[in-house]
Amino acid sequence: AEVQAAARGSAPTHCPYCALQCGMRVEATQGAVTVAPREFPANGGGLCQKGWTSAALLDSPARLTTPLVRERGQLRPAGWDEALDTVAAGLGRIRAEHGADAVGVFGGGGLTNEKCYALGKFARVALGTSNIDYNGRFCMSSAAAAGTRAFGMDRGMPFPVTDLAGADAILLAGSNPVETMPPFAQHLSGASGCEGLVVVDPRRTPTAARANLHLQPAPGTDLALALGILHAAVAGGHLDTEYVRTRTDGFDAAWQQAASWWPERVERITGVAAADQRRAAAMLAGARNAYVLTARGTEQHADGTDTVSGWINLALALGLPGRAGSGYGCLTGQGNGQGGREHGQKSDQLPGYRKIDDAASRAHVAHQWGIAPEDLPGAGPSAYELLDALGTEHGAKALLVFGSNVAVSAPRAAHVTDRLAGLDFLAVADIVLSETAAMADVVFPVTQWAEEDGTMTNLEGRVLLRRKAIDPPAGVRSDLHVLGELATRLGQPPEAFPCEPQRVFDELRRVSAGGVADYAGITYERLRDGAALHWPVPDTEHPGTPRPFLDRFAHPDGRARFVPVTYSGPAEGADEDYPLLATTGRLLAHYQSGAQTRNVDELMAVDGEMFVEVHPDTARRYDLSDGEAATVTSRRGTVHAVVRCVPSMRMDTVFLPFHFPEDNRANLVTSTALDPVSGMPEFKVCAVRLGRDRGT
Ligand code: SF4
Repeated sequence: AEVQAAARGSAPTHCPYCALQCGMRVEATQGAVTVAPREFPANGGGLCQKGWTSAALLDSPARLTTPLVRERGQLRPAGWDEALDTVAAGLGRIRAEHGADAVGVFGGGGLTNEKCYALGKFARVALGTSNIDYNGRFCMSSAAAAGTRAFGMDRGMPFPVTDLAGADAILLAGSNPVETMPPFAQHLSGASGCEGLVVVDPRRTPTAARANLHLQPAPGTDLALALGILHAAVAGGHLDTEYVRTRTDGFDAAWQQAASWWPERVERITGVAAADQRRAAAMLAGARNAYVLTARGTEQHADGTDTVSGWINLALALGLPGRAGSGYGCLTGQGNGQGGREHGQKSDQLPGYRKIDDAASRAHVAHQWGIAPEDLPGAGPSAYELLDALGTEHGAKALLVFGSNVAVSAPRAAHVTDRLAGLDFLAVADIVLSETAAMADVVFPVTQWAEEDGTMTNLEGRVLLRRKAIDPPAGVRSDLHVLGELATRLGQPPEAFPCEPQRVFDELRRVSAGGVADYAGITYERLRDGAALHWPVPDTEHPGTPRPFLDRFAHPDGRARFVPVTYSGPAEGADEDYPLLATTGRLLAHYQSGAQTRNVDELMAVDGEMFVEVHPDTARRYDLSDGEAATVTSRRGTVHAVVRCVPSMRMDTVFLPFHFPEDNRANLVTSTALDPVSGMPEFKVCAVRLGRDRGT
C-alpha cells in the first residue's frame, strides 16, 4: 500500500484485528507499507488473510483525514479546534441542562489499554457520568461473569495458548477458530491427532468439519447440552472426586440441578444423540490432558452466563481447571477484548478489573484520580440498555463513541439507529466514516494500530506492545489527544489527561496496582525489550503469571465454585409465524461490523455480499434457490441476503454473518433479550421466516 505519511519505519508489532494478536512486522519504506508474519507464541509465525492485508487499512481511500462537523444537515470538513470546541460546548450545554448522566460514552474492545483507561477516567472524572459501557458487553461479558463466579477472577484463558498443543482432548463450545482466527488452529492439532476434538456448533463450520465429534445442537439449547454431558460424565463414573473434594465447593447443589438432565431427555431438546453426549464425556474424561473452551456461539444468549457455568461445571467435575496441561478457557474475540474490560470502560468496573460497587476499590481509584470517593459515579446501564435509552427521558441526550460501530453491531439495529438519530448530540472518533460516524454531529479522524504505540492484552491475558511504525496522515490525531483536549475544555487540568501512550500506561499501572488485573510491574521498557507478560504482574521483577490457577483459584479460600444452573430455553422460540431459528457469526475475511474489513478490496473479493445459509430443503420449502435474493424477517425487522444452500445446515436453522451494513445488517433481526447476570444480548438465536426479496 502506498503511504502519504512523512515518516517511514519498521517495527515488530501485532495485528490490528482479533484477540490472537498475531505477531507481525511492519515495514514502511520507499512509499509502501508491507506486513509480514513474525514469530509470536500465539500465532507461531502465521497470519490469516486479514492480517496479511492489514496494511491496506493505513492508506484506505475511505480513511478520514480531517474532522467533520455537521452543518445544515451535512458533514463538512472542519479544523481540530472547531471540532473540539463544538463537542465541548455541546456536552457542556447538555450537562448543564440535564445533569452529568445526560452524556453517555461508548467504547470498544479494539481500543488499546491506554485508550480504554483514558475513556473510563474521562467519563467518570471529566464528565461525571455513570453512562459508560462498550461493545465488549456484546462480545464475551457472559463468559467474564461466569469465570468470575467460578474462579474468582476472569482471565479469559488462564494458560498460554501453546499449552493446548499438549491436549489429547478439547471440547470447543460455540467457537470456530479455523475460520475466525486460523493461526489458532495449530494449537488444536494434539487433540485432533488423538481423535479428541469435540466441537459444539449448530453449523458444520470449518472447525466442526475438522472435529472428531461434531455435536450440532439446535440454537439456544447449549446449556441443556452442557448439562447432558455433565450428567453423562458423572453417571459414567468420570467424576474426579478427589479434585472436587480438595479444590472446589458446591458440587452437590450443581448436581441436584444436573441430575434431571439425563442424555436422552437432552437429546429431545437439543437434537444431539445421547450416545454422542456420552462419547464426548468419555473423550474428555479419558484424556491425559483436556480442555473445555467456550466462545461467542455458546455465550451470546439470554442465559449466557449460566450456559458458560454449565461448561465450567463440566470442566470442574472432570478436574480440569487449575491442573497443568488441562483447563477451562474462553476464546476472546476482539483485539483487546480482555484488556478492554479491565481498565474501566465497562459500566460496572474500575481500573485493575475492580468492581465499581466495592468501597475499597472506589476509595483507591478515587484517591489516584484526585477526587472524593462519593464523586465517583456508580454502575451505569449495560451497553444495550444504554443505547435503548438514548434520547429518552431517562437516557443520555448526548453520546461520545470511540472505536465502535453500534449502528451495525447492536441488536435490533434499526431501533438503535433511531435512538442515535434522536440524540441532541452525537460525536464519534473513528478511522473511517462508519455507519455510526455518518450519523454524528462531529467526527474525529483518529490514529490506528501502526501509527502510535499502545498496549493490547490478548486472549491469554498477555500484555503486549503494538509499536508505532509510521506517522499518521496529516490531520489525524490520537483518541488520547481527543480525550485530553476535551477534558481540558471541560475544566480538567491538562496533566490529568496526558496524550502520550506511555504516560497513560504508567498511570494505568499505578491505578491497577493491587487489583485483580495488576499491571504494576509491566513497563514500556520491558515490552520494548520483547516481553509480553501475562497479568497479574505486581512488580517490575515479576515474570508474569501464565497459569494463575495452578495452586489456588482467586476466591479468598482458593477454591473454585460449581454454580447450580438449569435450562429453560431461549427467549424466543420458533412458532407458526416465525418457524425458523436464525443464528449469527463471523467470516474469515471480515471483522466485527466490517467497518475496517469492508474497506479492504482483497477481503471484499473473498466475501463481499450478505448471504444467508439455508439447508437446500428449507430453501425449497420457501420456493428459494441458491444465489437468489431473500429476506429474513423477525419480529424486529428484515434483513436482505443472498441464499446460500448448505446441505450441512440444520433444517430448522439459518445463519447470518454480521459484517454487512444498511439493509444487510444481520442485527436488524436479532433479539434484545438480555442475560440478567451480564447484560449480554441473545445474538445467537431468534425466530425468523424466509421470503423472496421482491425488491430486487
Ligand atoms: Fe491473527 Fe486474528 Fe490478525 Fe488473523 S485477524 S492475523 S488470526 S490476529
